[in-house]
Amino acid sequence: MSSKNSQDIPPDHPRYESLKVRARVVDAYKAGILADSGLIAHGRGEAFDYLAGEKTSPAAEKAIETAAATLLLAENPVISVNGNTAALVPGEVVSLAHTLNAKIEINLFYRTPERVSAIEKVLKDAGAREVLGTEENPEHIEGLASPRSRASKEGVYKADVMLVPLEDGDRAEALISNGKKVITVDLNPLSRTAKTATITIVDNLVRAIPLLTGEVERLRKMDKSTLQHIVHDFDNHSNLQDSLRVMLESLHE
Ligand code: ATP
Repeated sequence: MSSKNSQDIPPDHPRYESLKVRARVVDAYKAGILADSGLIAHGRGEAFDYLAGEKTSPAAEKAIETAAATLLLAENPVISVNGNTAALVPGEVVSLAHTLNAKIEINLFYRTPERVSAIEKVLKDAGAREVLGTEENPEHIEGLASPRSRASKEGVYKADVMLVPLEDGDRAEALISNGKKVITVDLNPLSRTAKTATITIVDNLVRAIPLLTGEVERLRKMDKSTLQHIVHDFDNHSNLQDSLRVMLESLHE
């Protein structure tokens, strides 16, 4: 099956946005940014986004607000970037990192020197001043097999709060066991990552990251105790149930 180029998709197609995003993922695969399994991961995400009506739910908005407050309270926030994130939201990740003064670190399941360089270039072209995760001798996160255990000394290793979009369950668990707060973006409210993370934003990356940057800008005017209140009032388990409910209700429409 051949994939369509984004310019071939008619704007009145009912799945226009989704197909445009799919075309970008395919282009990223061809450019060596994404591993083949990244295409499959994207397909799983599309299925859940279909059920979510391809829009940000009130539950996701609540998780985004809490994530913004948590990132603003962090001492060393880090954004962990994989192939799918680099394919879909490189500029948006760089803007978020600048807004938060957060570090950006590449971490890949299927790590090759070529893919690391391709992702570093995408991020630098999008305006990143510094991209961690490329060094020869990193530190390691306990409880994980290489290469996912890699942790830059100035990045993941000393992070207190991490944004890890599209993470897998093992790494999310290991990061939490190593004392970090983990914020993930995952369209599947039933994934191990979604259930393990401190805060799960059940939304598409392409919508969630710009919304998160907007929330950081809005909340940065608030005092520390207001931010702490927002964090304290959030319950990830019940937020996941709310996200799942939106999907189940779509089956009755
Ligand atoms: P886990 O180990 O957490 O159970 P998994 O094995 O289901 O994860 P992976 O293949 O590691 O999943 O990662 C893909 C995850 O990312 C899926 O849960 C999928 O729904 C989600 N996903 C894919 N594309 C997007 C996207 N654009 N935005 C948000 N989430 C996405």
